[in-house]
Amino acid sequence: MVVVDWKMPYKQRVGGSNPSTPTTTKGCLPHEGGRFLFFREMINAMADIEWVWVDLDDTVWNFSANSWDTLGELYYREGLDAYFTSVDDWREKYLECNHSLWSLYNVGKITKEYLQLERFRRVLDEAGYPQNHLLEKARSLDPLYLSILGTKTLLIDGAREMLQYLKDKGYKIGMISNGFYEVQHCKMRSSDIEHFFDVVVLSDDIGVNKPDRRIFDHALKKAGAKAETSVIIGDNPDTDIAGAIAAGWNAIYFNPENKDLPDTIKDACVVSHLKEVRDLL
Ligand SMILES: [Mg+2]
Repeated sequence: MVVVDWKMPYKQRVGGSNPSTPTTTKGCLPHEGGRFLFFREMINAMADIEWVWVDLDDTVWNFSANSWDTLGELYYREGLDAYFTSVDDWREKYLECNHSLWSLYNVGKITKEYLQLERFRRVLDEAGYPQNHLLEKARSLDPLYLSILGTKTLLIDGAREMLQYLKDKGYKIGMISNGFYEVQHCKMRSSDIEHFFDVVVLSDDIGVNKPDRRIFDHALKKAGAKAETSVIIGDNPDTDIAGAIAAGWNAIYFNPENKDLPDTIKDACVVSHLKEVRDLL
């Protein structure tokens, strides 16, 4: 990835004097220190891309909305209204617990099995669920949650169009996800996007999660691809973007809420809507 020093004279920045050289910074986020990736340089960096890898949850498949729906269904089906003040009270407590456990799971500090049990056990326990049925209930909720979640179909705005565009342009498309094996394929099937992917790589398949370099190396090997001609599009700055950059890949950070960019990925391309990917690839 080429980074341009914004304080450099214009001709040096763009490597020529063509007055028609685009001066827009669309698709790229300026950051502290006055450096940012110039639009033309970004295009050049993407010119040799052969493989476009996408993260699934909240990059193309709308995990947040689909999970919100699923938690609502669980609440009413499982009689959880006796333990929480409202369905949103339940959702918010679950999401907070789940988020903190995923932060540990992503870096290999807890197992998948621990996460799947604890994200329900802790929330029910704190809500006063009877101790004699707590473990049994917590164990039953995770498979139920995943089975309902896997039927949901809502995609991120522009995701299908982006995948179709990339396919039509002749790119190979890979999926690289930390999600669980038993549900990720269901999500892709339910939302009718599975056919877009030439290769699917799940952390469950090899036992290491993004941002661990081994999953990126495994993806390249499985696809017969190279790091320098691969780019990832993902919504998680730590697992997707920092992980890919550390493995020598190109990266496009999908940042729909325009969050501040962490220092670790300040040189990544940034898009706030998936339709902007067309400006880069
Ligand atoms: Mg994601």
